[in-house]
Amino acid sequence: CIRALQKQDYGREGRTAVSLNARPGKCACYFADIRDAPHLAGSTEDFSDAKDILAVFQKNFGIHPPSEAPIFAAGSAASRGATLGVNRLTKPAAWIDIYYPVLNTPLDRSLSILNDDGTETWTADLVEDGDPADPEAAKYRDYVPTFHGLSHDGDVEGQLIYANYGRKEDFDEILAAGGNFTGKIVLVRYGRNFRGLKVSGAEDLGALGVLIYSDPRDDGSVTISNGYAPYPEGPARNPTSVQRGSVQYLSIYPGDPTTPGAPAYPNATRTEGKNIPYIPSLPISWANAQRLLEEIAQGGLGESQILDGRTSARKIRLVNHVDTKVTPIWNTMAAIPGHIKNETVVIGCHRDAWVMGAADPTSGTVSLHEVIRGFGALLKSGWRPLRNVVFASWDAEEYGLIGSTEWTEDFPEWISQHVVAYINVDVSVAGSRWHSGASPSLAHLIRQAALEVPHPTAAGNEFLASYELEGTHASDVGIYPLGSGSDYTPFLQRLGVASMDQGFSGTPTDAPYHYHSVYDSQRWQELYADPGFYRHVAVAKHLGLVALRVADAIILPLNTTQYALELDYYLDKVESIASELFVSADFSALRRSIAHLQTASKDLDAEKAKAEAKFRKLLKKLPHRRESCRARKSSLPGWLRKLLKILHVHRPRGFPIRKFIKAANRVQAVNAKLIAFERGFISEEGLKDREWYRHLAVAPGKWLGYGATTLPSITEALTIDKNVTLAKLEAVRVTKLVENLSQVLAVYRSEQVRTC
Ligand code: GLU
Ligand code: CA
Ligand code: ZN
Ligand code: ZN
Repeated sequence: CIRALQKQDYGREGRTAVSLNARPGKCACYFADIRDAPHLAGSTEDFSDAKDILAVFQKNFGIHPPSEAPIFAAGSAASRGATLGVNRLTKPAAWIDIYYPVLNTPLDRSLSILNDDGTETWTADLVEDGDPADPEAAKYRDYVPTFHGLSHDGDVEGQLIYANYGRKEDFDEILAAGGNFTGKIVLVRYGRNFRGLKVSGAEDLGALGVLIYSDPRDDGSVTISNGYAPYPEGPARNPTSVQRGSVQYLSIYPGDPTTPGAPAYPNATRTEGKNIPYIPSLPISWANAQRLLEEIAQGGLGESQILDGRTSARKIRLVNHVDTKVTPIWNTMAAIPGHIKNETVVIGCHRDAWVMGAADPTSGTVSLHEVIRGFGALLKSGWRPLRNVVFASWDAEEYGLIGSTEWTEDFPEWISQHVVAYINVDVSVAGSRWHSGASPSLAHLIRQAALEVPHPTAAGNEFLASYELEGTHASDVGIYPLGSGSDYTPFLQRLGVASMDQGFSGTPTDAPYHYHSVYDSQRWQELYADPGFYRHVAVAKHLGLVALRVADAIILPLNTTQYALELDYYLDKVESIASELFVSADFSALRRSIAHLQTASKDLDAEKAKAEAKFRKLLKKLPHRRESCRARKSSLPGWLRKLLKILHVHRPRGFPIRKFIKAANRVQAVNAKLIAFERGFISEEGLKDREWYRHLAVAPGKWLGYGATTLPSITEALTIDKNVTLAKLEAVRVTKLVENLSQVLAVYRSEQVRTC
């Protein structure tokens, strides 16, 4: 099947042969309406996109559109029935769930430098130039004004102070130099940590407001100062470009601010949002920031000099009026029933964008669309996956992973019981370097598939993954732990579902990506990120291969031994942090529990092999029969075709059917342990001060947001709380989980296999 999918359903040419809108000379991948309007979460355009994706599912999966559109308010019987009914489906289904989070949209904003008498001496334009030559960038330059998602409404005045990237260490450095943030407006640059944490850090220090700008120093080598023309004339950053984006404090909890841990139903009980700022902020361009930096530097001082905590002489006025209200969002979902009813793989990409979002997330949606088409073609050929496959087109990811978080908060038990893995794609192409982040248990699968997909643009005979990278750890071969910033977070870090993410991102020599800007347009994508769309196709191939393998493998392709080995490496990091901090703490009990887990996992590996071999051996004993024409044509895995016939139709004499069922049960018992592995890191109490996060092996760093912190409870007890006693207690907590996990792997659990 996999080969069929690669050959038939993905284009032979770089430019994929399959498309909704194949026009010569035009991008063959993009949805017909991608250029029609921005895709802001909660907008009417977003609702129409949700319905377009619904139609894509219906068309590809052979679903006859019902007379009444399957669009359900979350919490209604129909909405709950759709997800909970995946285990009982006999044919594919697609629907839209509507959740009701709090979102905001921009009203008036302004930014000015004030004279002593309060009059304005300079006013920022707060608008991107757009591109007269590019209809979408011209028309929509101010359609979604430059603002921060979930920012606080406010009108504040204060002197300006500069704080580099607004990281914890930046604030600390300035405080040490005598700086004082109380009553100030803080100017910081984008990069290094999640933007919401820049605002959070400033707020904690008493600041009144925050301005975040895009600094060309963070753009690599393709800059105006290196002689490149700014976009749209050339590849360098357009100095008027602005990075919109959410300022939610995503490392406290993601999702709707007012319903942490619970689904945002229309009638939900809401709390005051604890993961959003209390002070206003605005994103600004380099063009606007330059003027403000001058105001602080007064006389051309360089950055090192303005990092000493000095402030502007004059005051700044920052006005950010936003309309904050409960707003509907639309997750478009589809399910393909598998032969095994109680195992499901989920694959998703968000659909909402800040403006056009050609890369973020339309490139991912386009790659996922190819997978949908591929699965559709397989279904038409008679194939059915071994396990259920759920596809998701999430909404409101941009405001803070809201669509995916609300869904996981709506169905936590169902997901915990049934979901074997979550496969995410967001930006599939914004540059030339392919990367992947994942649970260590998925690293082998990801790498193997990446070694089979030809690299779309590298010279020579190369693949997405490189044979040159070698080593024991997943990170040695370029597969890093997942922090946050996309929809895998609720699956992985709250529910303990093995997860992955991937895509092509920029390198220091690529054209800088105009992230969350009007310049994230199809023209930019075609000119600089992926001329010919070869990279989009490579991601689609990889996604499709991985999804098929998770869906169809007899034994789930989850490598728990790799994970158990990785834990040693995580603990090495904790120990080196402790020694850097001159802390003496003994982590040997945890070290021993990890060793036990490695042994238990190796035993499970042996059991995996035995269970599969036994099962396959019995399959071979099945008598050969003339298959019906339909069955022969079908691309159903041969073994399964036989199983179904035996169990339901032929019941041949002499075949050890009881043994066969026992072997199938053994396979599923092994799979249950593989699924339980990642769940084993979930601690009900969660992480200190951010209990929503419950995974004790990996979390978004409290002060990083995007970046992962491994063994977060222990690490942050050392680095943030500076509390050795707490670190030791946290180590005990992790040790217990790991010991318990060894038990889980060891206990033989017999579960009933339910086939159709
Ligand atoms: N991916 C979005 C961003 O980086 C949203 C992340 C979040 O708020 O959790 O802005
Ligand atoms: Ca919620
Ligand atoms: Zn995105
Ligand atoms: Zn984004």
